[in-house]
Amino acid sequence: MRGRLTRRYLIGLGSNMRVPGIGGPRQVLVAALAALDAQGLEVAAASRIIDSAPLGPSRRRYANGAAVLETRLDPPALLAGLQAIERAFGRRRRGRRWGARPLDLDILLWSGGIWAGEGLTIPHPAFRARDFVLGPAAAIAGGWRDPVTRRTLRQLAARLIVGSPLPR
Ligand code: ATP
Ligand code: MG
Ligand code: MG
Repeated sequence: MRGRLTRRYLIGLGSNMRVPGIGGPRQVLVAALAALDAQGLEVAAASRIIDSAPLGPSRRRYANGAAVLETRLDPPALLAGLQAIERAFGRRRRGRRWGARPLDLDILLWSGGIWAGEGLTIPHPAFRARDFVLGPAAAIAGGWRDPVTRRTLRQLAARLIVGSPLPR
């Protein structure tokens, strides 16, 4: 549903665990896109799914992807919806970031620019330094501009490839 109140979000998807009844990380991301759609979040674009190296203490490889969502939800409401989907895929928070997880859904950017609330920061604070986020994101929304650095996703992805330092 498009209209005056429609907001656009760029989200990052990640998985590095099998989920019983669904399959490995790639199947989990495909199923997560279907779950977003089933919640009424219109998936306007989805990247292909890439394989990437582990981040932090976990040794399992990741599947990563990105999607553009259209919804009337504001950022906290969308985050709550994304966390409900994470839980439906078996995610349990154990106080440790970056461990093995069946599904991670992060809000990278949104059409409203900067959001700084309790427990929610948009743009996602780490997205500019992660090639497994920027690669898929730039492929579907290369012209979208980061409101903090004023660079497009295409520019941010290119800078990572050539190894330039980035403002955090
Ligand atoms: P990272 O944030 O480095 O990618 P992570 O995704 O593994 O790590 P989580 O355990 O999924 O971290 O989330 C930790 C907390 O981050 C969540 O409880 C959420 O409130 C908060 N958070 C802040 N900003 C965002 C955002 N833009 N998208 C998703 N979660 C966010
Ligand atoms: Mg994350
Ligand atoms: Mg997360």
